[in-house]
Amino acid sequence: MKVIPSCLKCVRCGKTYDLSQVRYNCQCGGTLDLTRDFSGVDGRELKKLWDSRWGAKRGVYASGVWRYKELILDIDDSCIVSRQEGNTRLYPAGKAGEYAGLKNFYLKHEGENPTGSFKDRGMTCGSTAAKFYGARTVACASTGNTSASMASYAAVSGMKSVIFIPEGKIAYGKLAQALAFGGKTLQIRGNFDDAMRLVQEVCRELNIYLLNSINPFRIEGQKAIGFEVLQQLDWQVPDWFVIPGGNLGNNTALSKGLQELYELGIIAKIPRIAVIQAAGSAPLANMWKHKTPFRAVENPETIATAIKIGNPVSWEKSLRGLEWCNGVVEDVTEQEIMDAKAMVDAAGIGAEPASCCSVAGAKKLVEAGVIDPEAQVVGILTGNILKDPDAVIGYHKDELGKLNIRGTYANQPQVIDCTLEAVRQALE
Ligand SMILES: *Cc1c(COP(=O)(O)O)cnc(C)c1O
Ligand SMILES: [Zn+2]
Repeated sequence: MKVIPSCLKCVRCGKTYDLSQVRYNCQCGGTLDLTRDFSGVDGRELKKLWDSRWGAKRGVYASGVWRYKELILDIDDSCIVSRQEGNTRLYPAGKAGEYAGLKNFYLKHEGENPTGSFKDRGMTCGSTAAKFYGARTVACASTGNTSASMASYAAVSGMKSVIFIPEGKIAYGKLAQALAFGGKTLQIRGNFDDAMRLVQEVCRELNIYLLNSINPFRIEGQKAIGFEVLQQLDWQVPDWFVIPGGNLGNNTALSKGLQELYELGIIAKIPRIAVIQAAGSAPLANMWKHKTPFRAVENPETIATAIKIGNPVSWEKSLRGLEWCNGVVEDVTEQEIMDAKAMVDAAGIGAEPASCCSVAGAKKLVEAGVIDPEAQVVGILTGNILKDPDAVIGYHKDELGKLNIRGTYANQPQVIDCTLEAVRQALE
């Protein structure tokens, strides 16, 4: 396969930059993304090549991101920093499907990535770029999963990592991973949006490579979620993808990847994308529903800490993708998120709260008549159930009253005497 030429292009003004120098933003302040020249590229050949790599046992093509290398990043294999990420399962939604009112509902479990979230797909690509640019230190602001992922990829590739997290506001499992993988962890006094501002300044001033989702290479890696779903469905295109939205990088990646497949003739139908935000952190949903200009949310709140973001960096890119695919944006309440999570968990699949916006949102859109109950729908579960045990225990013990969340489907633990009779009673 010949090399597909690529460069960075401003989303706002269209100015292009070659890849020789580190750049996160355009001179005009707009965000950048990687664009490719597809002239002379044969989509059928690409598809054949990717299918031939399916099930590779080792090497870079054993990764569910680098399997699609031609549309990820053209770089020498020796530069690639990989943990064989991706290769996540696509489950029939079971009980969660009944709950959402959908007959053909699949859940793509990105919580099955090496560090337990889809962030690994972006991080393999971002870390590879960091290596390519000769970085020795990488940094990010994070609601948790990005830092866990970055610290791991930095550790496997011999880079240092610096993590900025909002003080006291990230799930325990994620903080544990960041510390365990050796990330220098700075808990700043402020929220995620403050941390995001600070890390950009730090990277500029201290010559550290920035691995937030503003980093265009991370978006490229995350496109592979959509590629892999399609490959798992033998390239049959579902009617809908439903995906949670926080910083809005992931849905941007999904639509960008699908658009590339469409341009290459690899898919002939455009699936619709529904982005689901938590009602307390929903700048995109607010804008969408009220047809108002973008306005950041001052003090974002939600139990789904992975998407507790008031000023998402990728909102412009995200909208561009939604326009392309005739997408929609919806928001869901805290109760809806946690009840949907109880159903995803009870289905035996399990995921962290933010992930379950996919199911809560699908249910809401089916009820609203936007998604047909017969439609084929793929929900993205973005993170692992073990990331946030506090949320699970709080719900099942019905102790989230102060957040106005009831344990609707609580599975309460019981304390009993150590006798057969007590067990018999408990099982009645
Ligand atoms: C990062 C993250 C999200 C949000 O993705 P964005 O690209 O920021 O929209 C959702 N769920 C989980 C579990 C995450 O880690
Ligand atoms: Zn520009």
